[in-house]
Amino acid sequence: RLITFEGPEGAGKSTQLKLLAGYLEEKGFEVIATREPGGTPLAERLRAVIKAFEGEEKLHNTTELLLIEAARSQHVREVIRPALAAGKIVLCDRYFDSTTAYQGGARGFDAEAIDALNDLAIAECAPDLTLLFDLTPEAGFARTRTRTETQGEHDRFEEEKLEFHRQVRESYLTIAAREPERVRVVAADRPAQEIQTEVRKLVDELIR
Ligand code: C5P
Repeated sequence: RLITFEGPEGAGKSTQLKLLAGYLEEKGFEVIATREPGGTPLAERLRAVIKAFEGEEKLHNTTELLLIEAARSQHVREVIRPALAAGKIVLCDRYFDSTTAYQGGARGFDAEAIDALNDLAIAECAPDLTLLFDLTPEAGFARTRTRTETQGEHDRFEEEKLEFHRQVRESYLTIAAREPERVRVVAADRPAQEIQTEVRKLVDELIR
């Protein structure tokens, strides 16, 4: 089973993924927790390249898109597909819906081109369940700002305009409306434990 975690930064995806991984392991499942872009040595290097060139330096949007898809292609073939074949549960922090929402919805790449690249990269490893952690850009910004201050982390994405994140959110919600069976919207502006309870309920339905 492949379960993907989507939503803006600050929605608590990573926390929820960790909590869910622990829950599933306790139930006796073999769990692979991974992330995109990244998840393999090669894909993590591509992630580092993207991070190194964003912001001050120039990274063309098209180049970024192709690097993300290249990282995904490697990740799917090296990690996700073999894990699924071995009967493991794969939890992935971001997957192809991120590309649809960020590069498609917000940066305006042609939706058909994105779909074609996504299809090529995922090699038929479509998620069985996608948890969309939904948060307004205002609430997401408030959270990441706190995180940035405490961790001293700096990245371009935090400085992006509210409008960009409104488009991302809208795009995510459009995906959820189009595929309500696969994509479940989870309200993320709540205490983590409360969100996790809902997440476990949704996942129990899938693995039952
Ligand atoms: O996974 P995380 O929330 O750390 O991602 C950081 C940022 O990477 C996102 O907020 C988004 O702006 C960017 N991203 C992107 N396109 C993707 C995946 C992530 O622009 N396909």
